[in-house]
Amino acid sequence: MPISFADRLNNVETSAIRELFKLLGKPGIISFAGGFPDSAMFDVDGIREAVNTALSEEPGGALQYGATEGYQPLREQIASFMHGKGVKDLSPEQLIVTTGSQQGLDLLGKTLISPGDKVIVEGPTFLATIQCFRLYGAQLISAPVDGNGVKTDELEQLMAEHKPKFVYLIPTFGNPSGALLNLERRKAVLAMAVKHQTLIVEDDPYGDLYFGEAPPPSLLALSASVPGSRELLVHCGSLSKVLSPGLRVGWMVGPAELLSRATMCKQFSDAHTSTFAQATAAQYLKAGRMPATLAKVRAVYAERAATMGRALKRELGDAIDFVPPQGGLFVWARLTGAGGKVGDGATFAQRAIEKGVAFVPGAPFYAANPDLSTLRLSFATAGLEKIEEGVGRLGEAI
Ligand code: PMP
Repeated sequence: MPISFADRLNNVETSAIRELFKLLGKPGIISFAGGFPDSAMFDVDGIREAVNTALSEEPGGALQYGATEGYQPLREQIASFMHGKGVKDLSPEQLIVTTGSQQGLDLLGKTLISPGDKVIVEGPTFLATIQCFRLYGAQLISAPVDGNGVKTDELEQLMAEHKPKFVYLIPTFGNPSGALLNLERRKAVLAMAVKHQTLIVEDDPYGDLYFGEAPPPSLLALSASVPGSRELLVHCGSLSKVLSPGLRVGWMVGPAELLSRATMCKQFSDAHTSTFAQATAAQYLKAGRMPATLAKVRAVYAERAATMGRALKRELGDAIDFVPPQGGLFVWARLTGAGGKVGDGATFAQRAIEKGVAFVPGAPFYAANPDLSTLRLSFATAGLEKIEEGVGRLGEAI
């Protein structure tokens, strides 16, 4: 008997990217396709020590069921981590722990989106967000992005025209755009939230991965200086990209009423984030190892990003155009088609696979009106030699 699935599944398709990932198992492929941090970067000793401390000091807390809002010592550590990032007035009760920031996004979908509701996202934006919000029946509106993040004039027009349920942004080193929303635009976004009384979701898993100067403060940090904006702001954070995605520890800051509804939904979903993972994360943060870990990952990714940028310019010349990323894990690029070279991301991805190098074409990252010339290259997991070799292969494939 055919299984009769819920109608909501009709709103999402399995992504084109998944199809591409099937090819990655081919021997000898150099992959710039993933969105993972480098496993070699994990502070295994620090995490082992944190596990041991958690088990010896608080075995009950680490192994028992726990509060849906999160393990209190971790909420305290996260609040203090956020203080260090300029969010001065955050109390542990103003955040809940989520199973990765991905769960935060899912809880927002669950609590806020009714079928047909409009949500504005960036074009391009995180693919899993597109899929997740669509699963709840959202009608996604795409706001254009340039090298300085979302174009705020266009965003405001879209807000006025569509009156969306909320706006979802990745202001700092976005996935896939790598773009950094500048300070002026950050202030403009907060002012617009107040003017249009529209909720803004700031997804910020990459903000700590900067290569040179620190980025401007998060929307959450800046909201203290824009009266009325804090009540319209949700902020999702994560340890995935800086410490370990396998821990599945993220958090969500937001208006009290929203957090309380999200907590209710979380209760039906996973009861709470793994207390074992939370106690480990709490001990890790408490041990004060994060600053050194961050310094290390920033330095390694900065060198890889610079190497990839130089190699792309050398090997692909004017056939490719990109803004060198100042942080995050990705180079977001556009094929220019100059000199009769390939101008379409999907065609180039296919040719690249044949030469033994993989990346993700950009089109699936758009909720609407995809720019077919775009592509996303991750510099995070390949070492410098592999980056040179892989970009060399791209040069043969173009
Ligand atoms: N948001 C963005 C923009 C991401 O790129 C990712 C991971 N790729 C996530 C959220 C989810 O990360 P996690 O659930 O591991 O915190």
